Amino acid sequence: MATRTPLMAGNWKMNLDHLQGTHLVQKLDWTLRDGRHDHAAVEVVVLPPFTDLRSVQTLVQGDKLALRYGGQDLSPHDEGAYTGDISGAFLAKLGCTYVVVGHSERREGHEESDELVGAKVRAALRHDLTPILCVGEPLDVRQAGTHVEHVVAQLRAALGDLDAEQVARVVVAYEPVWAIGTGEVATPDDAQEVCAAIRSTVEELVGSSVADGLRVLYGGSVKPGNVAEIMRRPDVDGALVGGASLSVDDFAAICRYQQ
Ligand code: PEP
Repeated sequence: MATRTPLMAGNWKMNLDHLQGTHLVQKLDWTLRDGRHDHAAVEVVVLPPFTDLRSVQTLVQGDKLALRYGGQDLSPHDEGAYTGDISGAFLAKLGCTYVVVGHSERREGHEESDELVGAKVRAALRHDLTPILCVGEPLDVRQAGTHVEHVVAQLRAALGDLDAEQVARVVVAYEPVWAIGTGEVATPDDAQEVCAAIRSTVEELVGSSVADGLRVLYGGSVKPGNVAEIMRRPDVDGALVGGASLSVDDFAAICRYQQ
């Protein structure tokens, strides 16, 4: 079975001004170093607003911080008359490794369809960015008991016609919409159920070796107090963290869940 390096990604959303953001990155690095965080054992990623990426790049590359960083969204297009959009080429130029695609706040607030999310995954891959593809069910779907089917359909729509080499470059985040920013957390077994279904769907699509290596994150009110139990589940390989990533102490504690 493949070894999967756990990944903790902090999605700042539209929070923190420029000074607060750069301060957070510096303090996070000091805190992790202080705790002798092993970046080879747990990969740490920050996902700031676009306007902070240049400064984060200067800090991370200038000071050789082990943190990685990425964008919260990208355009499906590479360049052109798309006012307000950000191309994957721009993110790659700024040294981004990751980009979030299909976050529920984009699917809902910006009416992003499965088709658009799929086009964004392809755009990320064209620019050698690792898409963190978000999938997850709203509350009514969970209550109807069709959450696995819902998530599998989102996954198939986004990855369906990619080849094995492309799917191997994707990270999937299972984020039940009802658990995002609400304080409601899926139980570790709920997270495991859907993360396992994601892995078996990828196995059906492109085979077991890619599925074994695929990193599947859980997201939805992850905190220092619940992360270790969630991470004990065999198909959960990390977390996409919103609110708690805005506190250095909380996010560092999440990254050090093994200690
Ligand atoms: C998120 O924004 O992806 C998220 C999971 O947020 P929170 O941790 O605040 O629920």
